[in-house]
Amino acid sequence: SYEVSDLTMTQGKHSESQRPLVDEHVRISVVVPVYNEEEVIVQTYSRLKDVMETLGDTYELLFVNDGSRDQTATILRGICRADDRVKLINFSRNFGHQLAITAGMDHAAGDAVVVIDGDLQDPPELIPVMVEKWQQGYQVVYAKRMERKGETRFKKWSASIFYRVLHRLTDVEIPVDTGDFRLIDRKVCDVLSSMKEQHRFIRGMVSWSGFRQIAVEYSRDSRQAGKTKYSMKKMLRLSLDGITSFSHVPMKLAGYLGLVSFLAGMVYLLAVLIVQHAASSVDILTFVALVLGGVILICMGVLGEYIGRIYDEVMDRPLYLIDSREGFMKRGANCD
Ligand code: UDP
Ligand code: MG
Repeated sequence: SYEVSDLTMTQGKHSESQRPLVDEHVRISVVVPVYNEEEVIVQTYSRLKDVMETLGDTYELLFVNDGSRDQTATILRGICRADDRVKLINFSRNFGHQLAITAGMDHAAGDAVVVIDGDLQDPPELIPVMVEKWQQGYQVVYAKRMERKGETRFKKWSASIFYRVLHRLTDVEIPVDTGDFRLIDRKVCDVLSSMKEQHRFIRGMVSWSGFRQIAVEYSRDSRQAGKTKYSMKKMLRLSLDGITSFSHVPMKLAGYLGLVSFLAGMVYLLAVLIVQHAASSVDILTFVALVLGGVILICMGVLGEYIGRIYDEVMDRPLYLIDSREGFMKRGANCD
């Protein structure tokens, strides 16, 4: 709540350090999801700031604190108060990486929105390259990892398999070896914000949206500090969300498995009828019960994954809950 007189006073005579009271038009928003990143967050901020300053476009740095339990929120609040390019959203708890990105996109004001990890694994220096492509008319510029430094062999291997399985299962062309580090145009950002699905696999949603997309290649650095915040469980959930959101093949698999199992049974029966002396009937029954029981339970589990997601959609809960927002009202009180 600022006064009109303040407005007229500041207009037309502000220097670089003295910005106007009203929000100027933001060209580029940078969305940074963070969860327990106290060791690296200051470094992330200063590197992002350096890059964005050289770009010459107006920008905002939008940090989404995904329920961190360390000093991340305090540090970010300090940064936010000192730099009016910085905005901060604090979640009420940990909602996960994909929802933190979603909140950032929902609140971003820019004509283009860049999503980047807070641990400096995605080099901020790539942003100018992305912006250049955007200015050439591309609406999605995604960063494709040519190599990944400082990751465990298991992570690289599981990620590689996941992307390739996903690629085979879906009709949507989701590029392999591509994370959420990307630039999207305002149009695409609005599309994503209008998609209210609960289980979000954002890189898939971006591919699904179409538009003019292009890749820029980069080498993914290792983390500058701290440990990965993606636990095994979170990784598994993300992969399942990715697959179930973009493919019905696993659900149909139940049918195929049933068919195979049925045919195997028929063949078996024929074989027994032709060759009279088979193994003991107890052995066979045990075998059949185990295999069939296993197949049925697997299929039920697969259905459960989908039904659980249907349930979540029907409940229609908010995607994330915000505890506080800071820096959205420039100058004046600075923090709301
Ligand atoms: N992150 C988040 N919420 C989470 C987990 C991670 O906001 O529940 C953030 C994290 O702070 C980082 C980004 O998402 O900025 C990527 O996470 P991380 O680096 O731990 O994943 P990795 O690079 O190991 O796959
Ligand atoms: Mg990382």
